[in-house]
Amino acid sequence: MRRKIIHYKNGATLIYNRAHEKNVTAILAGFLCGSHYEEGGLPHFVEHTLAEKTSTKTREEVFTERSLMEEVNYMTSPNFLGGIAYQSNKKEQLIWQIISQAFFDSQVDQTVLEKHKKIIAEEQATTARKLRLDNRVLLRHLWFMDNSYSGVDDFVQKSIGNQQFLDSVTIQDVLDFKNRHFYSDKFILCVVSSRRLYRVKKLADKYFISHLKVPTEKSLILPVDKRYDTIDKLQVETDEKSEIERVAVSICFHPTDPEKFPLNKEQHVIEECLLEKVGSFRDLVRDNGLVYSSPSVTFTTTCKNADASLSIVFTASNYQNIEKIFGLLGDSIARLKDDFITEEDVKKYKDGYQMHLDRELKHKKSAVSRVQSYIDKQVYYGDDWPRFTKRQNRRSIKALTVEKVKDFASLVLNPENNVIITFSGNVKKEQVKDISYYKNLIFKQ
Ligand SMILES: [Zn+2]
Repeated sequence: MRRKIIHYKNGATLIYNRAHEKNVTAILAGFLCGSHYEEGGLPHFVEHTLAEKTSTKTREEVFTERSLMEEVNYMTSPNFLGGIAYQSNKKEQLIWQIISQAFFDSQVDQTVLEKHKKIIAEEQATTARKLRLDNRVLLRHLWFMDNSYSGVDDFVQKSIGNQQFLDSVTIQDVLDFKNRHFYSDKFILCVVSSRRLYRVKKLADKYFISHLKVPTEKSLILPVDKRYDTIDKLQVETDEKSEIERVAVSICFHPTDPEKFPLNKEQHVIEECLLEKVGSFRDLVRDNGLVYSSPSVTFTTTCKNADASLSIVFTASNYQNIEKIFGLLGDSIARLKDDFITEEDVKKYKDGYQMHLDRELKHKKSAVSRVQSYIDKQVYYGDDWPRFTKRQNRRSIKALTVEKVKDFASLVLNPENNVIITFSGNVKKEQVKDISYYKNLIFKQ
């Protein structure tokens, strides 16, 4: 069954989808008031106070209730502050009740406040440390690309807050935040359940919809606009403790039809040619004895009408080798634009695709991972989520030709496009050169 999106008169939204699993309900409920709405850490702080005592239950009782569940958790994303839970349908009422009381009946006093100030101070330090790890380079690179955060410190400052914030935050701040944001038109509930819709609607009314405050005027629903900068950019995030240097490079471009970009199968052929073919980037790097971990290549888009990018990540033990790898990437790109893509490559990809489709069909996503991705989609796209049928996918595979792949390659691998680079690890700032230097290596100019 297709997903159902229901808009209530009070402005609230319910997203419903049938679970693949038997006898399971997963819910994610909350408000559009994540860390992008109020920078400095307050949304995340409020999230921490949700799982505390209520007007009728002690902290211990709430905790025991929670431990009986398969999963109950609270999260603050850039857009959303929510509670997620899933459980077999036998105890299903309880997950609705737990998340509902967290939003509508959690109590905050001085003890709760002081406890979470300590926890969050600890969280600031560990989050920063974790995010500086080598394997998070792509995440940091994506933030930098879409201007979300200029680096780890900026992220921590804006989403978790600094010590000054923790010292100053009061009970009144928490209450005021709820009064500013917990309104019906900012509320989204997503349910993936083996229960039928009429049953889910009943529970939604009982636990959420009927408790919501209706705003006197329409709330400000922030638009999500993640367009990339139209400039070349470079950042260096040094971590002296690291033993390697890792670099993420993105070439940004405007897809000819952004709405249908996921159907664009040319991107997979390019990925494959760049990485897998004899004489490809990965082999070149290896043949030169340079590889520390294999380079990877992926295409990404952020949301509707946004630019897309080709991202390449590679690693080496020192700066000299990083620079050599840039040169080898340039060699591969030059060959790819030349006569490197053949009928054979396209045919190979077409043959392999059916296998890929079959494999995807077998791996159905769990209810709990679906509620999370549905909320993100609703936030980014509103009611018109992009959704492509198997038939559309097959058609676009059939229509794939060498000419089309080459046209796409020249759209993407074009020196006119903007390039964004993130250096991280044991790189020394003084070794890193100007962005135009690397751009010249990539495009062999
Ligand atoms: Zn936290």
